[in-house]
Amino acid sequence: MSFNLANIPEHHITTDVLVIGGGSAGTMAALAARRQGLEVALVDKAGIDRSGCGCAGNDHFLAILESGPEWDTKEAFLKWYHRLTQGLVDMAIPEKVFLSRIKRMVAYLEELGIPMRLDATHNDYIRTGSFGQPGDYFINFDGRKLKPTVSAEAARAGVKFFRRINITDLLADGGRVTGAVGFDIRKGDFYTFLARATIVATGNVTRLYNNQASMPYNSWHSPYNNGGAQAMAFRAGAELKNMEFVNYTLTPVNFSASALNAIVGMGGYIVNGLGERFLFKYHEKGEKGPRWVMPWGVYWEIKEGRGPCYFDLRHLPEEAINHLLHHLLPVDKNTFLDYCEQKGVDLRKDLLEVQISEGQLPAFLGSVSGIYVTPECATTVSGLFATGACSVTVGSLSGSMCVGETAGEEAAKFIYRDKTVKPEVPKEELTARREAIYSPLKRQGGFKHCELENKLRQVMTLYVGIGRTRRGMLTALEELAKLEKLFPDVRADNLHELMRVHELRDMLLVAQLIARGALEREESRFGLSHYRGDFPTSREEWHCSLHQCLQGEQVVLKRVAPSNL
Ligand SMILES: Cc1cc2nc3c(=O)[nH]c(=O)nc-3n(C[C@H](O)[C@H](O)[C@H](O)COP(=O)(O)OP(=O)(O)OC[C@H]3O[C@@H](n4cnc5c(N)ncnc54)[C@H](O)[C@@H]3O)c2cc1C
Repeated sequence: MSFNLANIPEHHITTDVLVIGGGSAGTMAALAARRQGLEVALVDKAGIDRSGCGCAGNDHFLAILESGPEWDTKEAFLKWYHRLTQGLVDMAIPEKVFLSRIKRMVAYLEELGIPMRLDATHNDYIRTGSFGQPGDYFINFDGRKLKPTVSAEAARAGVKFFRRINITDLLADGGRVTGAVGFDIRKGDFYTFLARATIVATGNVTRLYNNQASMPYNSWHSPYNNGGAQAMAFRAGAELKNMEFVNYTLTPVNFSASALNAIVGMGGYIVNGLGERFLFKYHEKGEKGPRWVMPWGVYWEIKEGRGPCYFDLRHLPEEAINHLLHHLLPVDKNTFLDYCEQKGVDLRKDLLEVQISEGQLPAFLGSVSGIYVTPECATTVSGLFATGACSVTVGSLSGSMCVGETAGEEAAKFIYRDKTVKPEVPKEELTARREAIYSPLKRQGGFKHCELENKLRQVMTLYVGIGRTRRGMLTALEELAKLEKLFPDVRADNLHELMRVHELRDMLLVAQLIARGALEREESRFGLSHYRGDFPTSREEWHCSLHQCLQGEQVVLKRVAPSNL
């Protein structure tokens, strides 16, 4: 390989605020901190302008607009959210980080020229409801320009962008996080960032489970989100919450986009192999129930011999099907209609077969599980904030933008409270981190990252997937510990593989956190999200959150009581 390990260029950046992960949440956090007059570095292992889950083109913007009806109020939203999350969320979070900001956020995006009203013939928002909402909370919009537009705003405001830098570890000084280290995935240069406040925002966790196409990069959400923030925060001593809850959805067979929101929001049905709508058996709202109800229902229909299951749009009026075909499906994933065409499926006349997606760590249930934060987006470690899908804030695109803004403002307040703090890091720590980053490039023989990664997915799918049992989880923990032992033998033959090795390191840790939490929680909750075959119902003593954190080398678990409304 051409990269010269004996002479690695180094870059040492000192800033007020470091934001790790330039997705929707991270970019908003950076912009908000910059607006408070601070120096901000925004770092992403991808290109920022079109990175993360928001880059794919989102078509639904969750919003409370207080437009008149009773359901369109903060009180109704909180009531629904509390029911949806079963009390496992501190309601001060949606109130402070989301509801107080959402109307302004919609207006801001319109000022930036994001088409929130779809086309000139629609003066008002088109709104639909799904996932158990009491009304039509989702603005149907065209989000394809959102990410490049907002990142251009951040650049214009003076946020400094560091693209294609894979952050591997946080730095700490005397119990306070003081920045992070990483490397340039194309040139190999070593980067140190020293910061007075650090915000992690690397999104959800994918590639942990096999999907039915057995193509790990053909994932429902961005395949490059691999638990960086969750793993880094955990290693730095932060508490993580409810890591056992995995999120599933329905996708067309062997296709990665969900489009579930669009389809059920427009009144589409889900039917079984007998042609019956079956979801009312599983939830009083049927297709309009929470997202977890749909894979849960499909799982049981297939298991009990009534599969396969399908999306059925044949009954929809022309206006609704046109809206889906022209405005929603091609925005959710621009190859959605190509997929249908190649399958020979005309959605006006034919059924579209669905499957249960691979599991991933949180998306819509983003507020239930992830890095534990206060309503100020502060983690349990001083100087470290977390926002977006990696944290227990508010899931969804609009949620991540609002909580991103909150994190940026709160990090700025934290800095202004004590302006004398100078971020430092012991020299030995820096040397050790640098050595650890590049060591896979020095190895001969050993394993390729994908050998261990494939095994990890196999273990997670078999034992920590659907229908978990105590015995299965113990087996998984044993197998994952073996992989952990083999990890120091994983080699990288080039810089691209070096990034994959560091992703694997984080995925291995997150996988163990999921398995440990799932073993501990002796009940079932949120359908397939945590379905224990040996404890198949919800149990009152488990109506609580489960936190995990590191104390020394020891993982400590604690139960935290549910919240009241
Ligand atoms: C196809 C698709 C359609 C969707 N549609 C909708 C919708 O219509 N409505 C809705 O509400 N939600 C939708 N979502 C979900 C929504 O996009 C996400 O909830 C939201 O974008 C999450 O934002 P985030 O900033 O937390 O994470 P992301 O936007 O995923 O950003 C994470 C960033 O971190 C970077 N990163 C990861 N690891 C590292 C590392 N180690 N070092 C440096 N950088 C790193 C990544 O490159 C990425 O840029 C959709 C998602 C997808 C994939």
